[in-house]
Amino acid sequence: MLIHIPTIVVTLILGYAMLALQMSVARKSQDSAPLRMWNWGNWAMLAAFLVFIGRLVVPFWLSITVGHMLIFLGLALYNQAIFLFLHNATERGMWIALGACCVATAAAYPLDFSLRVSVYSALGVAILAPGVWQIVRHGWSRERSLRMVASALVLCAAGFLMRAADAWVYPLAPDPLWQPGVGPAATFLLAFLSMLGSGFGFILAALERSASHMENLATHDGLTDCLNRSAAVALLGNTLQRAQRTGESTSLVMLDLDHFKAVNDKYGHRTGDEVLRKFAQTARLRLRASDVLARMGGEEFALILPATDAVGAVHVAESVRAATEALVIHDLKEGALSVTLSAGVACAVGGSVITPDQLYHRADTVLYAAKAAGRNRIELAADL
Ligand code: GH3
Ligand code: MG
Ligand code: MG
Repeated sequence: MLIHIPTIVVTLILGYAMLALQMSVARKSQDSAPLRMWNWGNWAMLAAFLVFIGRLVVPFWLSITVGHMLIFLGLALYNQAIFLFLHNATERGMWIALGACCVATAAAYPLDFSLRVSVYSALGVAILAPGVWQIVRHGWSRERSLRMVASALVLCAAGFLMRAADAWVYPLAPDPLWQPGVGPAATFLLAFLSMLGSGFGFILAALERSASHMENLATHDGLTDCLNRSAAVALLGNTLQRAQRTGESTSLVMLDLDHFKAVNDKYGHRTGDEVLRKFAQTARLRLRASDVLARMGGEEFALILPATDAVGAVHVAESVRAATEALVIHDLKEGALSVTLSAGVACAVGGSVITPDQLYHRADTVLYAAKAAGRNRIELAADL
């Protein structure tokens, strides 16, 4: 037998210790609830394998039962980390399942060796199944590293099954932890691969998420999730350049909420923010997939409408104006409130040569004309 099992067990323990320590240190810069939860799972796994080898000094039955309970705790914590990552909330049923597994672990101890190992293996597979299922169901098309996590947990399940099969083939083994055999060796090797694959997979998934969050922050406004000003100017520039090649019209609508200062003064800044969020949601519902809503600053927004002529742009602006007027926002203290907006529409007809700045200036000028003409209305700039 080439594989020396105690060596794998020690490697496994050192691996969990290293992973848990590294994740604890990294937490200071990478603070995320799912990663924290996952790392509690690592500590539980580390404790489990220490308790398993602790049978050298503590009674065998204690090492077996507490060791398995800690393994199940570790797997339950990994599951909770996955729930947190995918749904922003832990799953209460998981704690109940863990409790049931611990009771079953104690109850199954007096059974015959093969049967007991089979029960423990079945419990292990059952407790890690929800995490795999959640990733397959809700995480497969999200961060790609989650697929690695699910695959590694499946390896862990394979390890449990291998362990059960081996216990039926060699029911009289003296102590499977030290006994040289292909079954236990494969089980611990699979456990080792599972630790590496799932642990690093989960860290990478968290990094993937924070990278895309950063990317989003750089181009989007945090309050309304609209494109921010610099990204909007860049997009408008690209759209105008493409339109010059294709000869299509591009329209820009500048929108400004009316008397918004008065909303803040009367209802407070928080309700003001809520109005901005709700307005953005409402406006987006009126747009085609290729239209973009951007927040240019404060309560001023822009609609970038590719392949849209002046008539189409006025139509979209009017639809957003009417939807905004109909929007009712509830303030806890003062009750319902609503807002209106004024809009200026400018169109670069048939791919005419115009810079984003020039188009912006033309839309902005008519926006102020709309304000001067009484607000809650749309003005169209004359074609060039
Ligand atoms: P007008 O009809 O002429 O546009 O009047 P107005 O009050 O909307 O315009 P003004 O430019 O005087 O005021 C804009 C207000 O928008 C002032 C500022 O407090 C508010 N505002 C800007 N950004 C935010 C924000 O992020 N949140 C909230 N709540 N208010 C904001
Ligand atoms: Mg305003
Ligand atoms: Mg303004």
